[in-house]
Amino acid sequence: MASDETLVRFLPDGPQPQPPVALAVFWSRSEHRAMITRWPRLTAVLGATWDACRQRTERYCVLVDNNGFRARQLPGNAGEFETLLAARGVAEPSEEDLLAYPDLRTVDVSAMTSWPPERNALCWCSSGAKYKRCCRPRGSAASE
Ligand SMILES: [Zn+2]
Repeated sequence: MASDETLVRFLPDGPQPQPPVALAVFWSRSEHRAMITRWPRLTAVLGATWDACRQRTERYCVLVDNNGFRARQLPGNAGEFETLLAARGVAEPSEEDLLAYPDLRTVDVSAMTSWPPERNALCWCSSGAKYKRCCRPRGSAASE
């Protein structure tokens, strides 16, 4: 399993906003299923279940936030990932290929979303639930 630190991705070029941005790819339930069905080995990185996957994404965002970065999230797309791999002649992606995914994309800044959402806003994971009832870490506010 990759350590959280290895998942840190930075915007590659240009002046950095302050604080610097760390990109986090999140996988919707259907895209996560598509990924691990197509490449079962990626369960080691993505988690075997969608719940595990989104928990990892939330932990990663907390980690980068605690380290002075501003987390920005981008939706992952299995079909796009496969296309990017095919262009590089890769059929069976390694963990490194997956980690490189944000760098291979033409990053559309408008597709990025800020993290964390407001407590009462819809969760970033596309569950349809409020963030405070979904991926927001339990115990992160004493008043709940
Ligand atoms: Zn969620």
